[in-house]
Amino acid sequence: MPHDDTFLLPCVSGGGVEQAQRVESEGAITAVRNAPFGSTTRATSPANAGEEKRGGFVSLVGAGPGDADHLTLGALKALQSAQALLYDALVSEDILAQAPQKCVKICVGKRGDRLSVSQDKTNELMVRLAQKGLHVVRLKGGDPSVFGRVEEERLYLEAHGIGHKTLPGVTAASAAAAQFAFPLTHRGEARSVTFLTGRTKDGSIDLRDESISDPMASLVFYMSSHNAAHIEASLLRAGRSPQTPVVIIENAGRPTARALSGTLREMAALVSQAAFEGPVLMGVGTAFGYARLAATVKARLQA
Ligand code: SAH
Repeated sequence: MPHDDTFLLPCVSGGGVEQAQRVESEGAITAVRNAPFGSTTRATSPANAGEEKRGGFVSLVGAGPGDADHLTLGALKALQSAQALLYDALVSEDILAQAPQKCVKICVGKRGDRLSVSQDKTNELMVRLAQKGLHVVRLKGGDPSVFGRVEEERLYLEAHGIGHKTLPGVTAASAAAAQFAFPLTHRGEARSVTFLTGRTKDGSIDLRDESISDPMASLVFYMSSHNAAHIEASLLRAGRSPQTPVVIIENAGRPTARALSGTLREMAALVSQAAFEGPVLMGVGTAFGYARLAATVKARLQA
């Protein structure tokens, strides 16, 4: 068995479990390939099952922010017909449980210092599994099109002649907006929403975006909480009022969600006091002033 067919699994974060388990995936893949398509109780045939049977196929699927309730029906069907699953670290156990038992499940996600597989390796894996004739589901946190590297994966698949389709997911900002009852846009007050990241490929921060100085723009920062101080200073320098509402949300869309609110002037202080462990979004703009934090906490306590 080639060395690189052995992976350390899994990296699902449910309950903080980080139990590394060695999986000899070549053996598992052979078993799956020999199983009839849809032979498990959960499996259903996707619309393109014929195509998948012939040459392998990759579904690039958005898992939403964590909770299985956020999966679209399309994503659920793709999962239920998966023969190989390559999933991100932010994908929860209850979502992974939707895939057939015989499906090969490989964590390729990176989160903090947990086990991770490079993007190049993930691309190679997708192609190799698809070339074995499998329906590969590449399951990504949130929406694949939002900071999800989905285009790199599509281009790689196309360069290797592998068919693919993309299924959208609920991005973390939408999940947070629903959970804490604030709008991302609001007539007369917030006429645009911009998803930004405070992190670039080389690790530096680049906030060149006209929206940061526009008082009518909602800003949602992904992958940025470690840069909160720099972002706060940049927005103030760009002319945003220190009183601009800010909401910082950890684990949006999950039962463990936590949200803190304040003003732009307090943004970095809020982040540093919170000692976040899960994924964090930072929202800046008038619309975030509508967040119903106390009500959500109350509802959860009564549930
Ligand atoms: N494709 C994903 C984003 C991937 S980038 C999406 O559409 O949501 C990873 C970043 O997304 C994290 O660093 C964090 O900023 C944000 N994120 C992902 N899931 C989150 C969650 N449940 N709660 C808060 N932020 C989340």
